[in-house]
Amino acid sequence: MIRPARAVRRVGAIALGCAALGFGCSGEKAPNATPEPDTMELPHFKYHPDPIATGSIVKSDATCIVCERARGYIYAAGCYSLEEYEECICPWCIADGSAADKLDATFFDESGVGFEAGSVPPDLVHLIATQTPGFSGWQQERWWGHCNQPAAFIGHAGEAELVAAGPEALQVIRDNTGIEDDGQWADFLSALDADGSPTAYLFRCVECGKLGGYQDCH
Ligand SMILES: [Zn+2]
Ligand SMILES: [Zn+2]
Repeated sequence: MIRPARAVRRVGAIALGCAALGFGCSGEKAPNATPEPDTMELPHFKYHPDPIATGSIVKSDATCIVCERARGYIYAAGCYSLEEYEECICPWCIADGSAADKLDATFFDESGVGFEAGSVPPDLVHLIATQTPGFSGWQQERWWGHCNQPAAFIGHAGEAELVAAGPEALQVIRDNTGIEDDGQWADFLSALDADGSPTAYLFRCVECGKLGGYQDCH
C-alpha cells in the first residue's frame, strides 16, 4: 500500500517519540528520519494534556538547548535550575527526561505536588517535576492531586472559564477560598481573571474525573 507522504512523516514522528521515551517502538520504520517541525505531534503528557491551551508550551522557531533542534514548539513556563532557561527547551526533551537530566532542572517544585491527594507515590511526584511541563502562578505553584496521584492540569481560570467548566468547578474554587457569604463570593468571582490576578488553577482527576484546584493572587 502506498501511503501519502504526510502520513509517512507522521509515522516518523511517532516512532521518534517512542524511541525518545525509551519504549522501543515496534511500528514500521519511517523512510523520512527527520520529520518537519509542522508535522511533528507533541508528546503526550498524562498530567498536563493540553500544554498549548494552558500556555506552558508555545509555537516557536527557537532552538532547543538540549537537542539543539528547532522543533516548532518551546516550553514557556518556569524552570527550577541554577542557570536561567527561558524559552529554550522543547517539549520532547521534557517528555523524555533529557532536559531535566542534562540541565539539572525541574519544571515543578516537588513539595507542591499532590495536595489533597492522599499519598502520591514518589515516582509520580518526580514525573511531574522532571518530565511534565509546569505552569506559571502568582505564588509558589501547587499541583492538585486526587485518587493518590497527581491530577491533570486543565489551566488557569477566571470567572468565564469557571462558569464554562460548570458548577463543580465553581464550587471547588469557592470551597478553597472559604468564602461563605454569597455577596463576597460574587465579588471575588467577578475579580477572578485567567490572565490576571486573582486567578484560579483548575485540575481534573485522571482516575475519577473529579475537579479540583486553588486560587492565588500577586
Ligand atoms: Zn529538545
Ligand atoms: Zn479521583
